[in-house]
Amino acid sequence: MARSRWSRPEWLRKRISLTELTEMRKRLAKGRINTICEEALCPNIGECFSKNQATFLILGNICTRACTFCNVTKGAPLMPDPHEPSNIAETVKTLGLRHVVITSPTRDDLPDGGAEQFCKTVDAIKSFDDSIRVELLIPDLHEKDEALKLVAESGAEIVGHNLETVPRLYHIRRGAKYERSLRVLEKLHAINPNIATKSGIMLGLGEREEEILKLMQDLLDTGCRLLSIGQYLAPSDSHVPVIEFVEPERFVFFRKEGMKMGFSYIKSSPYTRSSYMAHEYLNEP
Ligand code: SF4
Repeated sequence: MARSRWSRPEWLRKRISLTELTEMRKRLAKGRINTICEEALCPNIGECFSKNQATFLILGNICTRACTFCNVTKGAPLMPDPHEPSNIAETVKTLGLRHVVITSPTRDDLPDGGAEQFCKTVDAIKSFDDSIRVELLIPDLHEKDEALKLVAESGAEIVGHNLETVPRLYHIRRGAKYERSLRVLEKLHAINPNIATKSGIMLGLGEREEEILKLMQDLLDTGCRLLSIGQYLAPSDSHVPVIEFVEPERFVFFRKEGMKMGFSYIKSSPYTRSSYMAHEYLNEP
């Protein structure tokens, strides 16, 4: 049965402080920066913004696909802004970030899916300070070899691509294919084994335990060793509904199972999102 977003259990009632949002928004507005934190209505926004953490959304805030779980606006996007990479680097400097996460909407309208803009943004950050760690969370880039090569060799330390859910539920990821997403991760790892590849999934969409365990094995087979697992929360009543609020103990269970299977780091809790506490993934032994 679908669950209303107004009937959340007590472990899913995080409060958001408006003061923290306003301060960070002022800083981001200076560089005309979009964040996935705001576009996706992320429930961690108060916590992350209060620590000066944000995930930058490059290539505009309009997506060419129409996933039914995602709050990013769908439509016809604008051309890439040539000033965007330097604006992001300036904002990284202002915020004093040491680990930067950059993502984009899916840009099927661009021949390279936006890969070049990802590279220019990494370049702009690294030329300011090469020791800043950069993590890219990319769309599937239609699995194009040249585009994947660009991001794999961009200088970013982590390149992620989210599977989001198990193959049986892929109808919620319109335009995406489970096997293609796995191949994206596999190719990234093959092109540049020095980068860490990462993926993320949501629970609460009706997936079964054995399906999650199989998905984890599929990820490991691509060379992926970093994984985030969080609770899906429907952004509105017109999005695909939550089927289950998964108990915190289940997140612990999947973390333990995944670590036994061979992941080097898994963050798994109801409020985990792919970029939540992203600096932790490579710091763990
Ligand atoms: S978890 Fe990620 S998307 Fe959510 S507020 Fe934090 S940095 Fe932004």
